[in-house]
Amino acid sequence: MNNRLVDLYKKQFKANPEKYFMSPCRINLIGEHTDYNAGLVLPAAISKYIQAVVGKRKDNKIHLKSLNKLGDIEVSLDKISNTPENNWGNYPLGIFATLQKRGYKLPFGLNIIYSSNVPIASGLSSSASMLDLTAFIASKMYNIPLQNDEIALLAHQSETEFNGLQCGIMDEFAIALGKKGKSIFLDCSTNKFTYEDVSFKDLSLVVIVSNVKRALIASPYNQRVAECNEALNILKKRFNITSLSDLKVLDLEECKKLLCNNVLYRRVKHVVTENQRVRDFIDASKNENVELMCDLLNRSHESLRDDYEVTGEYLDFLHDISLKYGALAERMTGAGFGGSSIAVIKKEDFDDFKEKVIKDFYLKYRIKPLIFLADICDGLVVKDIVNKKK
Ligand code: ADP
Ligand code: MG
Repeated sequence: MNNRLVDLYKKQFKANPEKYFMSPCRINLIGEHTDYNAGLVLPAAISKYIQAVVGKRKDNKIHLKSLNKLGDIEVSLDKISNTPENNWGNYPLGIFATLQKRGYKLPFGLNIIYSSNVPIASGLSSSASMLDLTAFIASKMYNIPLQNDEIALLAHQSETEFNGLQCGIMDEFAIALGKKGKSIFLDCSTNKFTYEDVSFKDLSLVVIVSNVKRALIASPYNQRVAECNEALNILKKRFNITSLSDLKVLDLEECKKLLCNNVLYRRVKHVVTENQRVRDFIDASKNENVELMCDLLNRSHESLRDDYEVTGEYLDFLHDISLKYGALAERMTGAGFGGSSIAVIKKEDFDDFKEKVIKDFYLKYRIKPLIFLADICDGLVVKDIVNKKK
């Protein structure tokens, strides 16, 4: 429970909040830029959280406050649209609009105060955390029975339709279905998943947030989605496929010939080999072959750098210095560019590794990365707030 948030709520709204909620963020172990290609991913929820306290209102307004963003937002439920004035609120507001679009009646308004220690716009998916959290809040406050996978689907519908991002389902799933100590092996062609015990044995899994804000670089995310679709349309004439993930590594030679355009071929090559790396990683993990697991993580980074071209100089520099300072594996995690990465290091090396990586990165870019041990945790949490009578 966050007493500070509860007190703030009471002070601002002159009423008691009813429920407290928490939503983690996520890393992805392997399987990058495969989700929107109906491929394989292996994410896990990690214990940095957006927290929220929530209460009902007597009118039909949604009032949103975030301790991480300037400006409260207040909108009537029957007037929600994606507007520049709604600013950061366009993420949470999309959930209420999407529920109404699905035909749910939302008979009263809500006050929500958010507070978060998830780095925003840093590749750990604060957006999906915010969307899943708000979908979960709506399901509990309006008594709409939604399973965790349905929360993820609702949040994904909201991000694609209301916010207009052509993203895959991975982030919303990883957060809504998070389970302590488990990674989520998800097939995005069916949304079927299994929980996996991925262990690096006596090694530590580390998260590196570059702290390079994505606004510094124009992100070509939607361009990659379009390139994959373009390649798929060409390849469909020769292969009986519905997505690039239906292709096998053995098909790549043929693809190379068909896609005279070298760039499109490299995009396809990444998607196809990345899906295979996810399968190989799962097998290596089951066989406790940590060396192979690390090798696959490094090869994933190389493929994202050389073929998919989404790493960017900051994450490539982090990759290089991490390996130089003893990491057995290091790869970008999430969409890429000014985002985050994961590394596998010896436990006893952590302090030394952290100090050296931060120092080198700061010397080059004057930006201090955030480095911490990955703590794989449960997904969404709700608690009743017991308001003591004075
Ligand atoms: P990320 O890599 O963190 O998902 P995005 O650019 O996809 O970055 O999403 C960031 C958006 O999510 C913000 O612009 C804001 O709308 C929303 N958001 C995330 N966390 C918060 C927060 N604590 N307070 C307000 N808005 C938030
Ligand atoms: Mg995001």
